Amino acid sequence: MYHSVYETEPREKRMKRKWKGVREVVLEAEHSSGEFQARLEAMGACARDFKGWEDFGKIPPLRKRDIIQWQQEYGLGWFLKCQPGQLSRVYQSPGPIFDPEGMDPDYWAWSEAFFAAGFRPGDLTQMTFSYHMTPAGLMFEQPLRDIGCGVIPAGPGNTDTQIELLTRLPVTAFVGMASYLKEIGERALALGVDVREDFALEKAYVAAEPLSEELRGDVEEMFGITVREGYGTADVGCVAYECTERGGLHLSNYRHVEICDPTTGEPVPDGDIGEVVVTPFFTDYPLVRLATGDMSSIDASVCACGRTARKLTGWKGRVDDVTKVKGQFVYPEQASTVFARYPDVSGWQILVKNDKGRDFLVVAVETVTSLNTKKFCTDFQSVMKLKPVVETCAPGTLPEDAPRLVDERTFD
Ligand SMILES: [Zn+2]
Repeated sequence: MYHSVYETEPREKRMKRKWKGVREVVLEAEHSSGEFQARLEAMGACARDFKGWEDFGKIPPLRKRDIIQWQQEYGLGWFLKCQPGQLSRVYQSPGPIFDPEGMDPDYWAWSEAFFAAGFRPGDLTQMTFSYHMTPAGLMFEQPLRDIGCGVIPAGPGNTDTQIELLTRLPVTAFVGMASYLKEIGERALALGVDVREDFALEKAYVAAEPLSEELRGDVEEMFGITVREGYGTADVGCVAYECTERGGLHLSNYRHVEICDPTTGEPVPDGDIGEVVVTPFFTDYPLVRLATGDMSSIDASVCACGRTARKLTGWKGRVDDVTKVKGQFVYPEQASTVFARYPDVSGWQILVKNDKGRDFLVVAVETVTSLNTKKFCTDFQSVMKLKPVVETCAPGTLPEDAPRLVDERTFD
């Protein structure tokens, strides 16, 4: 079962529909957004020049730090098609940044995500995201109401009250952070509550933090429920969401999502890791190519659930934690998959160095046993495409809060 016909449409048809959506946003932004007018002027371009995806991919992405600065300099109205008072809501997120919510129905586009996670009419949902100032609580509540679910606006915290609600009301669904649900479960168990028997919980929808398979497994096992995650931001709402098959997150049908080289802003080939850049199809607050700062990649393989949208492979770190060596990006998140194969490794750090103009990587590895350096180098190189110099050291050598990537090169 699907939420809309868009979920199973052929790729060509989808891309045509998305182009229509993107084009409308670009035209509106050229007309009404001072920010986009300034970006076009800097490019020496106008909206008519963007005739296809390739042209569109050359528009420099919009950075969140620039939105924060320009909102301070020019005000919120500078970005909008309408007056601020004609918006549905205005939130404030850390930054501080104002996040406008326009009048379009399903503005944040989470409905298809909840539906794919098994939310149905009649589900009583405990909402533990905040309703105060930031968009999370209301952003997730509206689509639940649209589907036909009842919502308890619990908000975050007050764990004992959360447990009381889960015990006294037939709550079938939880929305919040997976780590918080685990905390609720642990507290309830400590109070002598049988969380599998005494709660009616069947499913959880989680977001706002990377979901490890370990955390998912812990929570599913603890409550006997299914846990599905969504990925989005406070600016654009839903970007991608899991289906029952897991193994990645289907791209939203209501946003154009690109994976881009964080230095040039241009799309990278399918499968390569890059920055997630999003263009939502709303026009009250037209955002063209918003750079999220999150790294991921695209999986174009067919999903058994029948949805035809391609998938994000999950969160691969932040742009700020990335550096480029010999034309290859070095992502600590990606390196962590190599270290996961070596259970005796208790800590590690990647150092980027330069010797007489030649860049190279030094990998410091804390291990209790001796490391098969040759095998490790092969494993590392197969994932990272770069050959490291390995230096082993005793556990406790690296400081506890040592960054996983340090670029020691100097650029003159
Ligand atoms: Zn699927």
